Amino acid sequence: MSERVIPLIDQRLINTVARIPTTPVAPTGLLGDALGRPLRDLRISVTDRCNFRCSYCMPKEIFDKDYAYLPHSSLLSFEEITRVARQFVAHGVQKIRLTGGEPLLRKNLEILIEQLAALRTTEGQPLDITLTTNGSLLKRKAAALKAAGLQRVTVSLDGLDDTIFRAMNDVDFPVADVLEGIEAAQAAGLGPIKVNMVVKRGTNDHEILPMAAHFRHTKVVLRFIEYMDVGATNGWRMDEVLPSAEVVQRIHRELPLVQLGAAAPGETAERWGYADGSGEIGVISSVTQAFCSDCNRARLSTEGQLYLCLFASQGHDLRPIIRGGATDEQLAGAIAGIWQGRSDRYSELRASLPPDASTGTRRVEMSYIGG
Ligand code: SF4
Repeated sequence: MSERVIPLIDQRLINTVARIPTTPVAPTGLLGDALGRPLRDLRISVTDRCNFRCSYCMPKEIFDKDYAYLPHSSLLSFEEITRVARQFVAHGVQKIRLTGGEPLLRKNLEILIEQLAALRTTEGQPLDITLTTNGSLLKRKAAALKAAGLQRVTVSLDGLDDTIFRAMNDVDFPVADVLEGIEAAQAAGLGPIKVNMVVKRGTNDHEILPMAAHFRHTKVVLRFIEYMDVGATNGWRMDEVLPSAEVVQRIHRELPLVQLGAAAPGETAERWGYADGSGEIGVISSVTQAFCSDCNRARLSTEGQLYLCLFASQGHDLRPIIRGGATDEQLAGAIAGIWQGRSDRYSELRASLPPDASTGTRRVEMSYIGG
């Protein structure tokens, strides 16, 4: 296990308060940022809590029992989240991903999903509503989530070996329960299900082939994610990154692969299919093959902070506008102003940044705004 950098300070950032532009831009569904990227994908964190302590995201040493989690009163209510989402949809968002922490820890999440499922894109289509979960509560909740209007789920699973899995979630949670959750989600029709495995060289990379073999023939799409320097607490080191190209080679040697095209603009995964048609995998290569050029994702924290990049060091506080009596037009105008000024492309710049930029700079925690 690598030495971790553990700063003893509050992980949340000091954000700027969002401003209502004097002449708010009316939503057209075609909002572009400073690099011409449209706004299509909104990730909404509904809690900053999680029942796992994955070392690359929420190390136990920091997120311990004394950690100051957000009081419930500071969380956006479901009605507030839906109101904000409605403005993003008017600006062009077509996909909403619910995240956390662990989103299924938020009570009555089905109510929020029902509200979001009632929204329509600027073309009058239903939104693509999905959720990223660690799968620990999925077996119990899958059917109700589907009935509420959730279409798909992505499950984080870093290994099949129970000892490895328990060590990586660091709360001794059994892998069998997550696998049962995936089966329950499939039975409930929450597919195509995606499984995300964060690959850390020297920790779980020997699980790549067992995971690939396990999910072949199941219609589950397995994606391998390069270990990222998210936040400021996971002690990230480049030599623990296993480049996606090497992941593909390892699998191809045993299970021949053919490259597939992107399924949608702005998709983060590079897709590969098994040559014998027995399934599909993906690789998400934020470190070695940055995909910022068509990044169309915004992130809303559970207390109303807007982030424009997973590696952001600054957010925009929408809450004073949400709770300050502003109209929907003014809220939409504030969101437009923020997005139009966006030029984030951290992963593209990472290689050119000074070495300590990856470990010294305080960036928002992934556990706070979702992956
Ligand atoms: S680093 Fe930021 S801008 Fe680049 S793809 Fe990731 S979230 Fe988008």
